[in-house]
Amino acid sequence: MSITLSTSIKELNKVGASTARLLRLIGVEVVEDLLFYYPFRYDDFTQVTPIIALRPGMVTNVVGFVELIQNKRSPVKRMNITEALISDDTGMVKVIWFNQPFISKSVSIGSKLSISGNVDNDYSGPLFKSPSFEIVGNGGGTNTQGLVPNYHLTQGLTQKQLRFLINQILHLSDNFHDWLPWEIIERSGLLPLPEAIKKIHFPKVKSDLTEAKKRLSFNELFLIQLQSQAIAIESKEYLAPIIKFKQEETKSFVDKIGFTLTNDQKKAAWQIIQDLESDKPMMRLLEGDVGSGKTITAIIAMYNVALNDHQAVLMVPTEILAHQHFNNIVKMLAPYNIDVALVTSKESKVISSNEEVNKKNDVLKLISEGTVKVIIGTHALIQTAVEFKNLSLAIIDEQHRFGVEQRKKLIEKSGDDKTMPHLLSMTATPIPRSLALAIYGDLDVSIIKEMPKGRKKILTQVIPEEGRSFAYRFIKEEIDKGRQVFVVCPLIDISDKLGVKSVKEEYRKLNEEVFPELKIEMLHGKMKKEEKIEIMKDFVSNKINILVSTSVIEVGVDVPNSTIMLIEGSERFGLSQLHQFRGRVGRGEHQSYCFLFTDSNQEVALTRLNVLADCDDGFALAQADLKLRGPGEVYGTMQKGFPELKIASLFDYDLMKLAKNEVSQLFTQDKSLSTWPELKEKSEEMKKAVHLE
Ligand code: ADP
Ligand code: MG
Repeated sequence: MSITLSTSIKELNKVGASTARLLRLIGVEVVEDLLFYYPFRYDDFTQVTPIIALRPGMVTNVVGFVELIQNKRSPVKRMNITEALISDDTGMVKVIWFNQPFISKSVSIGSKLSISGNVDNDYSGPLFKSPSFEIVGNGGGTNTQGLVPNYHLTQGLTQKQLRFLINQILHLSDNFHDWLPWEIIERSGLLPLPEAIKKIHFPKVKSDLTEAKKRLSFNELFLIQLQSQAIAIESKEYLAPIIKFKQEETKSFVDKIGFTLTNDQKKAAWQIIQDLESDKPMMRLLEGDVGSGKTITAIIAMYNVALNDHQAVLMVPTEILAHQHFNNIVKMLAPYNIDVALVTSKESKVISSNEEVNKKNDVLKLISEGTVKVIIGTHALIQTAVEFKNLSLAIIDEQHRFGVEQRKKLIEKSGDDKTMPHLLSMTATPIPRSLALAIYGDLDVSIIKEMPKGRKKILTQVIPEEGRSFAYRFIKEEIDKGRQVFVVCPLIDISDKLGVKSVKEEYRKLNEEVFPELKIEMLHGKMKKEEKIEIMKDFVSNKINILVSTSVIEVGVDVPNSTIMLIEGSERFGLSQLHQFRGRVGRGEHQSYCFLFTDSNQEVALTRLNVLADCDDGFALAQADLKLRGPGEVYGTMQKGFPELKIASLFDYDLMKLAKNEVSQLFTQDKSLSTWPELKEKSEEMKKAVHLE
């Protein structure tokens, strides 16, 4: 059969059932997916080094003829060793491979070989140990020469395999429909899509890579712009309810919250309140580092909406957060007789001054009748049959923005087809204001920079394995003082990969061996929702001393009594993510600590971790992360909230501006996009995708 872009990868040459299963694990089902599976890094073997110039420590490529090749058995470890001598015009070098006896069968004396890897040395001079190699003139070159792509793998897949498969189908990229209008490609000096795909996988020179990256990044930024400008155009067709500022009540509410608002909080709250007083729908992003106090700012706005007899919703990404916010907000609003509802996929309830309602239908009724003014929930809020009486403010926490579809659902739920609620997104992802404006088009931005007074710096330390028992003793002392501890691990299950810590194993160890006398629990994404909530409840009320978890603990969780954040395998997380973890402690009056465990002794890893130890500014960290990741790495996991960005950087301000201008030109020319059918189709496709973290 002939292979096309939509052919299942199972049909490809050299893909059996088990390889197909592995490819599916990395999200590759059909040929097209494979073409869009970009490398994350390249080995630079563009320089072919003459053998005479080889020096220990180099990472390079040589090309030469095989003078000798033979298998030996090492007497000591009983290993099979393949030894070869390779020569070019300038000299001869020794190459050895361990336990790969088949090499001597596929390579014969006189073959021309391309070899690349680290140059080592022994008594006889420079040598290559277990380098990559290819026979030249035999479809070779993809593994040892030029800029060699490295892909994220899963266990069982190899770089060689992926390179082979992608190389085999690369020509099919000629069949892509390029949805980007040709005029833009020309005007902005971009590569056509097929060429960009070819060059991102197998660049010949560095400029190929730069050009390919530019085109593929442009695609992603262009589509973000397309969405956000479409939203901006659309929202001009709506009005929002006017919410009057209740000055006296707000003042006395703020007086009773138990702390003084920071100036940035006051300013942000004031900006929101002013937006709410207009009949133009608010579209605002509230940005503030972890722990900066965004929630109370939002609550002040919701309180005003309730006083106006309108409804406000707060939507959060996890069940745990929904409960935390609900409990918190009920406490704050109950004295003012404002009823608050919780709606998640598992549970619905209303707590009012005189009763608690738990039946889902009753809860939905109270919401649709407008008795309940403030509603907290997860995505279930827009997925289930919740009807509002007069929804006027929708807030989304810890997520970047409302997707087109989410907004549409909310608009549908908010009464007639001329009105939409005011929208506020809250995020801890540090994007500079100018950039936020460039990304989001007409969005307004409030930033909380100032931390609440009296916060102590969280003492952060990188701890090598030798420091473990000391750290455990320290933890015990803190717990004896009544404090609590988070332990974060990279994996849930005990892994077969060497040494990566898992929640289950750490939990067992801490519970049975290290602290048998303490109350320890675990929390991870595979547990039942009810179970997770129960455990969080117990942790909040200090019935649990140590909580061992995966990254589920990353966003928003607020337990001021916890003072130690211990992170296992910390080199496996991005700096921004580690900063988010660290933000779980240091929320109360007590001195807090963050311990970064690592058994990596790689310098890059340690440098990165030490940056975190020295710096507590989320924005500076995000930028440092980008720099330290090194020029070879194209993309990373830092850009949370932008799952559609595989290759583009949020910090590529120039390209973002270019995309923004091109999109706005298109919309000026033809708001409906019908002039460009393929683009229109792509845009419809995008709208259907809901972005959740
Ligand atoms: P985030 O911005 O990360 O969502 P939160 O809103 O959860 O942060 O606030 C973190 C903690 O700081 C909460 O316990 C909150 O009550 C407290 N807090 C917020 N603002 C102030 C303030 N101005 N002074 C003291 N504590 C504050
Ligand atoms: Mg928060």
